[in-house]
Amino acid sequence: MKELKTMKSTELLEKINEKDLIAINNPSEKVHVVWHDNEYGIRICRPSMIKMGTHSRDERDWEILDKCKEYNEYENKVKELGREICKHCLKHIFKFTKI
Ligand SMILES: [Zn+2]
Repeated sequence: MKELKTMKSTELLEKINEKDLIAINNPSEKVHVVWHDNEYGIRICRPSMIKMGTHSRDERDWEILDKCKEYNEYENKVKELGREICKHCLKHIFKFTKI
């Protein structure tokens, strides 16, 4: 199994790109997909999950698990990882992208 780097939100926000699959460092956590929105730029389903600011004690550890070539790979990729998809993400990628 590939060794993944865990990172705090601040670092995560610098690293993530469109179509990255990200999750909190815990196998029971859902996997989210990063998408690009023309208005807001790089986004995830619930931006508040990635806390910004100075409350470092509240920060969680995140991992970039994989990357999709196309958004329609999201569900399968997450299944391959043996993880759970995020319903919010699924809804958002259908809404904001042309699958
Ligand atoms: Zn999500």
